[in-house]
Amino acid sequence: MNANRTMTEIQLPWYRPVAQEVALFEACAEQQLPLLLKGPTGCGKSRFVEYMAARLGRELITVACHDDTTATDLLGRFLIRDGDTVWCDGPVTRAVRRGAVLYLDEIAEARPDVVVAVHPLTDHRRELYLDRCDEVVTATADFMLVASFNPFYQQGLKELKPSTRQRFVSLSFNYPTAAEEVEILMGETDCERAVARKLTALAGKLRNAELLGLAEIPSTRLLVDAARLIHAGFPPRDACRTAVIEPLTDDPPTVTAMCDLAALCF
Ligand code: ADP
Repeated sequence: MNANRTMTEIQLPWYRPVAQEVALFEACAEQQLPLLLKGPTGCGKSRFVEYMAARLGRELITVACHDDTTATDLLGRFLIRDGDTVWCDGPVTRAVRRGAVLYLDEIAEARPDVVVAVHPLTDHRRELYLDRCDEVVTATADFMLVASFNPFYQQGLKELKPSTRQRFVSLSFNYPTAAEEVEILMGETDCERAVARKLTALAGKLRNAELLGLAEIPSTRLLVDAARLIHAGFPPRDACRTAVIEPLTDDPPTVTAMCDLAALCF
C-alpha cells in the first residue's frame, strides 16, 4: 500500500475513481435506488462497491451468483438445532434486516427464482417475501441493492431480462485510460511508475490486437497481478507471461505472439 496515503484513506479500501461513479452511488444510496454495474471482468466493479460501502459506513454483504445458487440459499431455510426447528436467514435476508449494502456479483448467472425473489426489493416496496416462514421483511433505510453484470460474457447465454434491467439505475464500467491505470497499478502495488507504464503499454497493445482473437482482453486485475510479481523481484517478461498472457489463452502460437508484444514493452 502506498505510504503517502492519509489515515482516512488507509481505513478505506484503495479505489481510484474514474468518472462520476462515486457521486452516482451516493445519490442512489440516498434515494434508495438499486444500482446495476455493467462492465467486463476485472475492471474494478467489486472494488468500487467495497470502497463505497466503507465510505458510507455500511456493512457489505456480497453474494457471488452462480447457476447452482437457489433462492432458498439466499433467503434462508429451516434448520434443526438442539432438536428444534429454527429459521436461519440467508445472506439476502440478513442484508435487508441489517441495512447493509447487498452486492449480487454477476447477477445474470443466478437462477431465475433468485432474480424473481429480489424483484420486490428493487421497487418502492423494498420488501422481501419469505414464503417458507410466512414473513414479509421490509428493508431498513440503509439497505441498498447493488448488482453487477458482464455484458460481454457468454453473449446470448446469460442475458439479464429487460424487465430486470429496467429495475436498476445502470452504470457502465470499462477499463481505465492508460494514465488512470498507471495510477491504479502504483496505488495498488507500490510498483514503480516505469513498470506501471510498461504494463499499461502492453495492455494497450493486447486490447487492440484483434488479430489475436482473444475471447477476453487483459483486465486491470491481470495487470495488478503482474505488477505484484515484478515488485516481488520476478523478471518482468516472465511476470507478463504468467500473470497476463497464460490466463488469456492456451494456444501456443498466440502465447508466442503475445510474449513478443511483451518483449517490445520490457
Ligand atoms: P470486477 O469486480 O470488475 O471483476 P475487481 O473490482 O475485482 O473487478 O477489480 C480487480 C482488481 O483491479 C482489483 O482488485 C484492484 O486491484 C484493481 N482495480 C481495478 N480498478 C480499480 C480502481 N479504479 N481503483 C483501485 N483498484 C482497481
